[in-house]
Amino acid sequence: MGQFEIVRTVADLRAQVAQYRRSGASVGLVPTMGALHDGHLTLVRSAKLDNARVIATIFVNPKQFGPTEDLSRYPRDEAADVAMLKEVGADLLFAPDLGEMYPEGFSTSVSVGGISQHLEGASRLQFFNGVATVVSKLLLQAVPDRAYFGEKDFQQLQVVRRMVRDLNIPVTIVAVPTIREADGLAMSSRNRYLSPAQRKMASALPQIMHDTVTELRGGSVAAPIIANAKGRLHKAGFDRVDYLELCDEATLQPIPAARASSRLFVAAYVGATRLIDNWQVI
Ligand code: AMP
Repeated sequence: MGQFEIVRTVADLRAQVAQYRRSGASVGLVPTMGALHDGHLTLVRSAKLDNARVIATIFVNPKQFGPTEDLSRYPRDEAADVAMLKEVGADLLFAPDLGEMYPEGFSTSVSVGGISQHLEGASRLQFFNGVATVVSKLLLQAVPDRAYFGEKDFQQLQVVRRMVRDLNIPVTIVAVPTIREADGLAMSSRNRYLSPAQRKMASALPQIMHDTVTELRGGSVAAPIIANAKGRLHKAGFDRVDYLELCDEATLQPIPAARASSRLFVAAYVGATRLIDNWQVI
């Protein structure tokens, strides 16, 4: 195994990947926005199981933040991230700056129709165009054998899969299950925004998701079960629920009752912090 390296330009990334290829190594890619936690590290660990070399990327992508979102205060701590990546045995960090990813005159946007329009797409209009644009760039910059995405962002995973199929990008997309805290809260870089009191409150979310999924499993009509769950979220102190919906996993469209391949999706605010999660129903 070579030394851990950090590269900041596409040219250096490609040179490093070419070197891996010359030695016959397979390459796994783990795209992130940094502020790493055990969810991200699990992606790296999965990538290490399948590939001889693992590249993590850190880029806080402005194109996937709306004008009122948290781009300027999004947590950044590259030194801590690097220490964690070394610890789990990543080989390379690609951490480009804004000008390297979107040089002067950059004017292309990748837009995935259908599955990107509901849920996160309805709440955050430009979000998936930003995600699809940056992920297509990262995949074409590194051209890995496999790229790893968390089920935590299930709709994003499906959008990336669709895009890779539609654009014939020669990479296998690997899904990794959601990593949770002891109380069930999905790990997220945004959990850092929560005060201790808010963090305590947030544990109602996995509890309510668990109960709701259990109720939905029988195949009963979803609407009253979901209305009840929304009431519980508000009572627990969630200020706003963007959505709490039962959807088909493939189409990401709402369905009236649970069936094979359904998932419960939620986006809700604790104070100013927006938390998302999804639980498989059947
Ligand atoms: P982010 O840095 O939030 O853009 O996330 C980078 C990648 O890590 C995405 O593929 C996420 O789905 C994944 N990820 C984030 N949190 C988790 C988690 N708790 N469990 C599994 N994967 C996660």
